[in-house]
Amino acid sequence: MESKTTEGLLNFIEKSPSCFHAVKTIGDRLKEEGFLPLSEKQRWDLKRGNSYYVTRNDSSLIAFTIPAKAPEGFRIFASHSDSPSFKIKEEPEITAEKHYLKLNVEGYGGMLCAPWFDRPLSVAGRVVVKEGEEYVSKLVNIDRDLLMIPSLAIHMNREANKGYAYNLQKDMLPLYGEASDSGSFFEEVARWAGVLREEILGHDLFLYNRMKGTVWGARQEFVSSGRLDDLQCAYAGLEGYLMAEREKTTAVYCVFDNEEVGSATKQGAESTFLQDVLMRIVKGLQWDYEEYLIQLARSFMISADNAHAVHPNYGDCADPVHRPCLNGGIVIKFNANQKYCTDGVSAAMFKDLCKKAGVACQLFVNRSDVAGGSTLGNIANTKVAMNTVDIGLPQLAMHSPYETAGVKDTEALILAAKEFFD
Ligand code: ZN
Repeated sequence: MESKTTEGLLNFIEKSPSCFHAVKTIGDRLKEEGFLPLSEKQRWDLKRGNSYYVTRNDSSLIAFTIPAKAPEGFRIFASHSDSPSFKIKEEPEITAEKHYLKLNVEGYGGMLCAPWFDRPLSVAGRVVVKEGEEYVSKLVNIDRDLLMIPSLAIHMNREANKGYAYNLQKDMLPLYGEASDSGSFFEEVARWAGVLREEILGHDLFLYNRMKGTVWGARQEFVSSGRLDDLQCAYAGLEGYLMAEREKTTAVYCVFDNEEVGSATKQGAESTFLQDVLMRIVKGLQWDYEEYLIQLARSFMISADNAHAVHPNYGDCADPVHRPCLNGGIVIKFNANQKYCTDGVSAAMFKDLCKKAGVACQLFVNRSDVAGGSTLGNIANTKVAMNTVDIGLPQLAMHSPYETAGVKDTEALILAAKEFFD
């Protein structure tokens, strides 16, 4: 069971090297399951008993099932499609030493820099071309080892192992080719996108780690891959969502872009995307605004974003009492300052849900002298207020291009999500 789930997870991640690919992968799966695609640009003719999905910017997605009978509020599961990386700048080619060709990139989100060195990388995302009067996104994944960020040799920096402050503009530019290859980068991008170089009018392209996911450890208990944060939650939520009955409440599954840069974009968790979709559902059911508010008050949201497991070499960095570990179950996150929006009520509801689903849960709070991270829940709550719990699957090396998690935990979240939507 676990190995099949992990295989499914790694397959999902491999098909999703960028936020755009993640949304395409999820959309394709939903379509297979009979979900009908909607466009924000057209009127929605919604029918009870049907399932739909809609995307925004090709990088965020919301799916929903309207039950045949009058729903008792919304059940919402939210995760994110993006991960920290490096974005290709406009006109990125830079010649170095009259011999090399490297690419100009800028940081996206709060990445760990060191693990990006000395491993094969490539580029994925989208290019924008004009078809008639429409600007159309074309997905592109250069599916071969294309780039590398080579380390400086120890002989040229004897202090390298004593800590290093990375300068993104100087240290992190990937080597692409030789000076004679000048002008070829976008030729290559165009070739993989199936368009002509001169047709590309815009692009959103990111570096990704080419190293495939692997299952390892004494009893194959660990899984490592790029983008476990947050595709592990996106995958588990989707599987549980599709397995569930989805008959009592309006079942909503969302994946938002831009969590790693604060969510305040037109398609992020702080946008009106979720609110717009929920209001259109209510309108589709011929309900008024008061009924929308009643539905919200009866709703519950799971904000699922991976959590920190206690690190075997850095136990002192975790709270002295709460020490989630890999394969220990789903992590409920708490923060007094509401970076995580779990409160007494939502914690109680989620613990009860885990009990019903027969899965273990663990608790996370930051050390009181460490700032910690933030996530989707409290941000989404400012637009659509409802009981919300922040949870995640325990992992190590968060924001590395190769992260580590436990093979059992994905299954736990699938079962919890199924229970949630049943
Ligand atoms: Zn995350």
